[in-house]
Amino acid sequence: MSTATVTSEDYLGAIYRLRETPETPLPLSQLQEHFNFTRVSVHEMALKLAQCGWLTYYPYRGVTLTAEGERIAAALVRRHRLWERFLTDMLDLPWDEAHAIAERLEHAAPEAVTEKLAGLLGEPTSCPHGGPIPPALPAQPGVPLSAAGPGRTFAIVRIFPEVPETLHQLAVLGIGLHTAVQVRQQTPEATGIVLSDGREVTLPVAISATMWVTPA
Ligand SMILES: [Zn+2]
Repeated sequence: MSTATVTSEDYLGAIYRLRETPETPLPLSQLQEHFNFTRVSVHEMALKLAQCGWLTYYPYRGVTLTAEGERIAAALVRRHRLWERFLTDMLDLPWDEAHAIAERLEHAAPEAVTEKLAGLLGEPTSCPHGGPIPPALPAQPGVPLSAAGPGRTFAIVRIFPEVPETLHQLAVLGIGLHTAVQVRQQTPEATGIVLSDGREVTLPVAISATMWVTPA
């Protein structure tokens, strides 16, 4: 993603997704890492969006959304996740492709059209990757699979962040939401799991850290 294609909306959406709570300032380093941008460009963008009245910038601590920023971000995330639902549930697209296409539809689709879509889909409350669709609140977050205790069985409740390559690799392995996984082994580099069909899989920690689980 280059700077030119990342809009103000994307910044607000990223803050909304990445922050711990609405009141906790999100460190700019996290936005930098998320977009793979320089410190300077993220800092400039934060100042610009603060000037627009969409976020509050706390030097050395990070940013929070203002009421208006919150409204824009929640609407963006809502559009993104509703279109993901449509693409997976109605068009049967794989969940990695759905995420990538929704990245574009979230900007292109008018709000009124998206609301019709919400009605058609039966007002879903979560995306195909387990992310809450605003105004739905986050469900039980669980723990990352990379931190789950060996010997126990867990159910996958969410993939976050949604990295297309990771989603693709999981789809190839036949791993999705609600898949039951038994943790075999944890090392600093990888998580060994056993699937319900007996297959043993070793996932790099970069992947298992994005798989949020709760005890099955
Ligand atoms: Zn999603």
